[in-house]
Amino acid sequence: MSKVLRLGMVGGGQGAYIGNIHRLASRLDGAWQLMAGAFDVDPERGRAFAISQGLDPARSYGTYHELIAGEAGREDKVDAVAICTPNFTHYPIAKALIDAGFDVICEKPLTATLADAVALEKLARDSGRFVGVTYTYSGYPMVHEARVRICNGELGEIRTVQVEYPLEWMANAVEQSGNAQAAWRTDPKKNGRGGSIGDIGTHAYHLAGFVTGLKLESLTADLSTFVPGRTLDDNAHVMMRYQGGARGLLWSSQVAIGNSNGVRLRIFGDKGSLQWFQEQPNELVFTPLDGCVRLIKRGADNLSEDAKLRTRTPPGHPEGYLEAFANLYAGFAEAIRAHQEGREVGLLGQNLPLAYDGLKGVAFVEAVVDSHESPNQPWLTPVAV
Ligand code: NAD
Repeated sequence: MSKVLRLGMVGGGQGAYIGNIHRLASRLDGAWQLMAGAFDVDPERGRAFAISQGLDPARSYGTYHELIAGEAGREDKVDAVAICTPNFTHYPIAKALIDAGFDVICEKPLTATLADAVALEKLARDSGRFVGVTYTYSGYPMVHEARVRICNGELGEIRTVQVEYPLEWMANAVEQSGNAQAAWRTDPKKNGRGGSIGDIGTHAYHLAGFVTGLKLESLTADLSTFVPGRTLDDNAHVMMRYQGGARGLLWSSQVAIGNSNGVRLRIFGDKGSLQWFQEQPNELVFTPLDGCVRLIKRGADNLSEDAKLRTRTPPGHPEGYLEAFANLYAGFAEAIRAHQEGREVGLLGQNLPLAYDGLKGVAFVEAVVDSHESPNQPWLTPVAV
């Protein structure tokens, strides 16, 4: 039996969004137990929230500095700390944790600025600490299935990639009516330079690269801000040229009414195409050149080991977002345990989103904004691809 890993958390307090998803997902397979946290920007609220979650009052911290000081001296200190705070805080929190010898699970985008992303990726590399990035959509079993099938050549040479992430929840100025999540996402100092492109375009960019293995050569972008009063984009169109000749189109939008979480990926090769839609995540549509459409279902016998390993229920019992997130946590646990035990990482801990993937995401966002802002030099290459 592998030991249960001890999880710490920064952010994700009362009323926050993603912290609770981390808590649920980390628990699903019994690999992690939440032991400590500094959950809120307000220390008192953070301590009270920690106690409400059943944590030991001695490990219910007011700030991440207190968490580091308190945990560093314990024999049973946390194995990793999840960072679930707004973007601009990721770098200082991650740096302090890594400097103190902790492994890190960081929300996307890795940082709010390119300089911070470059520094954090270097710090991760130099220190040897584990830094996982929660690119949620790479946790789905059918996304892994698509990746394996493309690696095996089932689509042939990839020609075009269409990836989109449309949302509707910011279709009006919710940031002006007390929505905490929208307030920091529309503030360039807290969010970074990319609005929709930084918040959700980063997911789409990672998903397309993860599944196809394609590396970006250059991009050109058109950003829009439709809701009056905003400074950051709430809609982005990006044309991409991949190395080797494939082409891509990425759309991210926070104002696409009718779309709750419409992440969609379509990949077209010279032998066939694949489609995956996050609102029907248990299915993959494969169309070979003969035109006979095949519906590949999660849980089927002939799927790849990569997909099977990330599946818990038989076909017909749907799995979704929480299970995909839990697959990331299961992978992070495997990678961290392998390192602790000095052994090879098993399949579940391979192909995880790590610090370099986080840096690529931030570099993509910066290049998109730069391209939009420099119409005379529209095709730009991100500093990391
Ligand atoms: P949120 O505003 O709902 O929650 C942020 C939490 O962080 C709050 O509890 C706040 O009090 C706390 N906080 C802020 N500064 C802190 C500090 N210095 N110390 C301790 N706690 C602090 O935000 P959210 O929507 O949950 O987003 C958080 C992060 O997660 C962002 O980086 C966002 O991009 C990312 N996110 C990722 C996904 C995904 O699919 N992976 C989805 C949503 C959000």
